[in-house]
Amino acid sequence: MPGNLNIINASSLCLITDYGQPRAGKDQETLNLIENGAVILREGRIVAADTTEAIASWLTDEVETIDATGKTVLPGLIECHSHPIFSGSRHWEYVRRLEGASGKSIRAEGGGIWSTIINTRKASDEELIENTLSGFKKILAGGVSTLEVKSGYGLNTIQELRLLQLLKDAAAKTPLDIVITFLGAHIAPQDGITVAEYVQQIQEEMVPAVINQGIAEFHDITCEIGDFEEKDATSLLTQARQLNIPTRVHADASSDSRGWRTAVTNGAVAADHLTYTPDSEIKDVGKTDTIAVLLPVAEQFYLDARKANAKLFIETGVPVAIATDYCSSFQATSLTLTIALACSWFGLTPAQAIVGATLNSAYVLGRDKDRGSLGVGKRGDITLFNCKHPNELGTAIGSPVVEAVISNGQVIWRNNN
Ligand SMILES: [Zn+2]
Repeated sequence: MPGNLNIINASSLCLITDYGQPRAGKDQETLNLIENGAVILREGRIVAADTTEAIASWLTDEVETIDATGKTVLPGLIECHSHPIFSGSRHWEYVRRLEGASGKSIRAEGGGIWSTIINTRKASDEELIENTLSGFKKILAGGVSTLEVKSGYGLNTIQELRLLQLLKDAAAKTPLDIVITFLGAHIAPQDGITVAEYVQQIQEEMVPAVINQGIAEFHDITCEIGDFEEKDATSLLTQARQLNIPTRVHADASSDSRGWRTAVTNGAVAADHLTYTPDSEIKDVGKTDTIAVLLPVAEQFYLDARKANAKLFIETGVPVAIATDYCSSFQATSLTLTIALACSWFGLTPAQAIVGATLNSAYVLGRDKDRGSLGVGKRGDITLFNCKHPNELGTAIGSPVVEAVISNGQVIWRNNN
């Protein structure tokens, strides 16, 4: 029967119990670890998760059984921030940054996000699908079972709708479970239209068209000085709230832009980056339902002078999620490696980072009801790691520690090495 599977004898089975809200503060540190654990999947759902001894009665029928001796079992990793649909390569920009070039001079040399938009607009549907599927394959090998993907390299109505449609087409060709986000307000367009005109175009033309198309689940909006400033972002967030579209915010990635405050005030599900959010703003805003999605690879890759203050967010009672930010600028495909880098970069513990890449990411994507933890009744989405203890995800830097990815009770990826 498809979707029937037993996993037994796991050295560490991490339930990451769902108490009905994203984990914050002290709760972000707890994995609800069971030694010698087992999880039983029937028709794609979790029907039991406990010690191997306690679930013995389930082992009587003829169901494929994975012996997870020496291994760690987690809920399927959930990647909640990626931009996989684009054309062109920007590796030379990294070299220029390492040589000390500023973003401004790189843009003058023909680089920056705008160069991706030009290339993406020109690319064929086939090329874009192929690039996207190539990214999906690598992201899956990094241990992910659910993946959020954004448009945002089109920046006009026709192109944004095209990218959303192509993301839907690509979603049908991967075993990953895909969640699609509209990111029309990615950066300020550089083809003659002002920010004010573009905001108006998003509100009057794009948003109704995106709703009509029915593919995107979220509206993601940048709040950044030089792109969409507080008043622009607030206007877009207000419209989305009136239309009942859940929102996310790319906030404070390059400068203190009041992005965190704007996201929380306007009821965004999540705010992402938060590299330059001042400590005073985190303290002032306080405990939130808005989830802080932190991107350690992006900060390292952009050679940022600052880091998001992950520990302060957690201490303040803000749930923290972790993501790769796979994009045209850099292709970070491994969420497992990102968990390790969240530890060395932000000073998070492996447990805090793991909660950030499972249960809290499920809440970001509105998928908490059926994934993100190994609770009975949830989907049989599991990532199996070739290590005895989840702490080893923090120390196994770059090693092929992902053993298998299971979705709906079926193995969708296996390490054949
Ligand atoms: Zn992003």
